[in-house]
Amino acid sequence: MTKHRNDDAYTNSIEAPTYQSASYYFNNAEHVKAGLHDRSEPAGRYGRYSNPTWIAVENQLSELSGAESSLVFSSGMAAHVTAFLALLEAGDEVVLPSESYRQVRNVFHHILPKFGVKVHEFSIRDPETFIANVEALRGRIKLVHLEMPSSPHMYLIDVERVRAAVGPDVIITLDSSFSPPPNFYALKWGVDLVLFSATKYLSGHGDIVAGVASGREELIEKLRWYRDTTGPITDGNTAFLLRRSLYTLQLRMERVNAMGLEVARYLEAQPSVDRVYYNGLDSHPHRKLAQRYLNGFGGVITFELNMTEEQTAAVVDRLRVPFMASNFGAPHTLVEQSTFFTYFEYSEDELKSIGVPRGTVRLALGYSNDVGAVIKDLDQALAHVQQTTAS
Ligand SMILES: *Cc1c(COP(=O)(O)O)cnc(C)c1O
Repeated sequence: MTKHRNDDAYTNSIEAPTYQSASYYFNNAEHVKAGLHDRSEPAGRYGRYSNPTWIAVENQLSELSGAESSLVFSSGMAAHVTAFLALLEAGDEVVLPSESYRQVRNVFHHILPKFGVKVHEFSIRDPETFIANVEALRGRIKLVHLEMPSSPHMYLIDVERVRAAVGPDVIITLDSSFSPPPNFYALKWGVDLVLFSATKYLSGHGDIVAGVASGREELIEKLRWYRDTTGPITDGNTAFLLRRSLYTLQLRMERVNAMGLEVARYLEAQPSVDRVYYNGLDSHPHRKLAQRYLNGFGGVITFELNMTEEQTAAVVDRLRVPFMASNFGAPHTLVEQSTFFTYFEYSEDELKSIGVPRGTVRLALGYSNDVGAVIKDLDQALAHVQQTTAS
């Protein structure tokens, strides 16, 4: 096959195309000098370092978060791990919430300590205690990692007070997978680096795994060197799908924000439901923080049935609209019985300490479902099990 150099001369498509190329050619020595040595004109070099489709989506992501710069990664975890490897070194002390995403906690407890990082973990259940714990370490901390809302209880953090507690020089990273823009703009509140599992709301179709980091150019440059070197990269097609999904992010979030509020209010009115954790309800313990920081409360609702684990399983089994699966932000509604899924390996004591009773269910509303159909489905499942219990 001969490479015809005018094959790609036809480049006036409105949408940025998908680039799938392991490397990029130079026309001559002059071009190498301009593209590689002086960087006076943009040129690709090799597929681990860059890809024009990544650049297109990264620019869009920076605009979305109000960031100077962004990077895409092969997964949300890849974005997190790359950030921590790039920003931390032996002897550094870090803080994270005990309610953080399980695999992020694993990185802090089982990977970073191997390289001499000292980890402090505090619960965010009581926001005041969390701030006091962070404040007590003032002067010792290099980085504070936050996540909000947390799963499954949707706990929030007073981000501005964390910044005030640590001072201007400590790096604050925040996992905003559950609260992407327009629901929350982390960088406006003193966060240095916002991290996303783009697998969730950002991509929003349940069909890709990807991650994002956005922040100041000076920090992103450090992450870029680690991404270039260690290779947790995505491909052009995944970047294309993510870029396309961002056009509908606002629409999708508005839709699940409205659905979430409606389903949460329905659930709260059911006699078989003990508690509903949703930031849009006045009953949420962190409602004040929700009103301050969030513009919408998303599509994930956690509720506790006043039932045994078996009865709860019977309710979940009778649901016909949601798929039984762990994820959120996808078109389909998903449901998981928390003590059967995420926490199936936890002992009774561990479940108590994280506050997850056996009747806990997490519902992740999908924007392709009709909210009336979701509520009707919940209604028939709850009614059936109540009847069985009563007879
Ligand atoms: C899913 C998720 C992650 C990890 O992202 P992946 O894309 O699955 O690697 C991190 N944090 C939160 C809050 C998540 O929900």
